[in-house]
Amino acid sequence: MSPLNDSPKTTATLKIAGILVVFSLFAFLAHGAFGRVPVEIDGRIALVGVGDSVAEIVAEQPCSAQPGNLLAASDRHVVVPGGGKPLVVRVNGRAADPAERIRPGDRVATLAGTDVVEPTNEETRVIAVPTEVVGSGAMLTLAAPGSAGVQRVVVGAVSGDVIARETVLPATPMVLRRVGANGKKVVALTFDDGPWPEHTAEILDILKEEEVPATFFMLGLRVKKEPEVARRIVAEGHDVGNHTYRHVDLTDVKPEIQRREIRGTNNVIRATTGVQPEWFRPPMGQVDSSAYREIKAAGLRPALWTVDPQDWRKNASAGAIAREVVSATKPGSVILLHDGGGNRSQTTKALPWIIHELHKRGYEFVLLGDLPSAPKSRW
Ligand SMILES: [Zn+2]
Repeated sequence: MSPLNDSPKTTATLKIAGILVVFSLFAFLAHGAFGRVPVEIDGRIALVGVGDSVAEIVAEQPCSAQPGNLLAASDRHVVVPGGGKPLVVRVNGRAADPAERIRPGDRVATLAGTDVVEPTNEETRVIAVPTEVVGSGAMLTLAAPGSAGVQRVVVGAVSGDVIARETVLPATPMVLRRVGANGKKVVALTFDDGPWPEHTAEILDILKEEEVPATFFMLGLRVKKEPEVARRIVAEGHDVGNHTYRHVDLTDVKPEIQRREIRGTNNVIRATTGVQPEWFRPPMGQVDSSAYREIKAAGLRPALWTVDPQDWRKNASAGAIAREVVSATKPGSVILLHDGGGNRSQTTKALPWIIHELHKRGYEFVLLGDLPSAPKSRW
């Protein structure tokens, strides 16, 4: 038989040899040129680095399965995606070690990792003193100091979610009583959020003309900006009060900020006018137990108001402001108006009407401290 004889057996052998050569060439080229070899991952062929471990392949290649999640102990929501058990890898049908090296042609299959629930911790926590405001007068007085409570809580170690709580010692509220007036026909005008150059000056001109005293609850920031106006208020016989430095809601900030807002304003008022403020008015009337303690510790007496015509509203007209004040005023009322925080032209327009009308009804204007309802004690 001649070697060149074209028998079917020879053809088949040549074909197999040819395929082997092509595959070897491909494997050689892939290996030599790119340093990568073909493997099957979750049913598709991928080229992976020569000598890569199972862990490296799972980290680099898209796998159909995902690791488990770390779940909250409270409601099982996902706290850390992928924070549960890692995915399970099988190579050629058997469980694989992450450090195991992959060989060309291996079949890699991934199975989802299971979810894990976070561990829990037990903690002792302080229950803050709640605040209760009772009564309807303008002056705030302390009826009961209140006390903090203690509770045991179980929290998720990662999520921080509270899973269970048990009160060991209940908190009791600080009770602040708003003290009202008695029958004397006196009334106090108060102006908040100043001083401002234009409107405060206009209000001072009117008060001078009418010979009426008022109490100005000033912002530390404004006093710093308008020291001359602040000094004029004091020079003309009016009283100055503290309304925080930046008009913060005291119930929204930490005790350190409450202290800084209150003390910083006292300092700037004293340095500017030479007067130590006696009164404090919390912005928006918002006060909690720790703010109350800070106010008292700064030597201030907290005062709210009983008549509020909402002159700060954009559409408030002078007529409406004056009508509301005159109809709501009773003996001992504390009237809240604003000389700052916006255009106060309607307030300044209403002011002479308010003064004339209340005078006509037999009212006398006094400083806050001269109201019969003003508490004289430290509390
Ligand atoms: Zn204010």
